Amino acid sequence: MTPWSRLDLEALADTGGHLEGRFDAAALDPRLAGALDRDEVTGEVRYALDFQRLANGEVGVRGAIRARLGACCQRCLEPFELQVSAGPRLQVSSTDERAEPEEGWEPGDPDPSPTLGALIEDELLLALPLSPRHPEADCPVSAAAGAVPKTDTQRPFTGLARALAERDGRKD
Ligand SMILES: [Zn+2]
Repeated sequence: MTPWSRLDLEALADTGGHLEGRFDAAALDPRLAGALDRDEVTGEVRYALDFQRLANGEVGVRGAIRARLGACCQRCLEPFELQVSAGPRLQVSSTDERAEPEEGWEPGDPDPSPTLGALIEDELLLALPLSPRHPEADCPVSAAAGAVPKTDTQRPFTGLARALAERDGRKD
């Protein structure tokens, strides 16, 4: 299974499929780099996903995604490794119709055969902090100044807004 593998959601749901593995984050779309304020995506992604048939006939995906991603600290502007985790509980429609999600499930992309990477990337984008930063104890700026600037730069917000806009645009 590679990030570019297309998932047959129907078959995975019918067989109670389980997918688990890791891949290089560089395989993910550059729109994620924009949200991380980097030129390219670096790091590693680990995932464990379970597929099931929901009561309403749609496909459910749940599991855990953990990533270490290269990011730019928005406090000191130095690169650092951002830990991101997501626990998706997605109803992915296998038809073009967007059915009401089952209770407790989030609506996912209505794509009958998304790639593994696209599915994971959507979840990572949603899980990213608006302003990625070092933990305070590790950040040279807060250590040196003893004070944390109260104003964030706007760059991570524009990056995220662009990424989300592209995400939404892709759904239409
Ligand atoms: Zn920092």
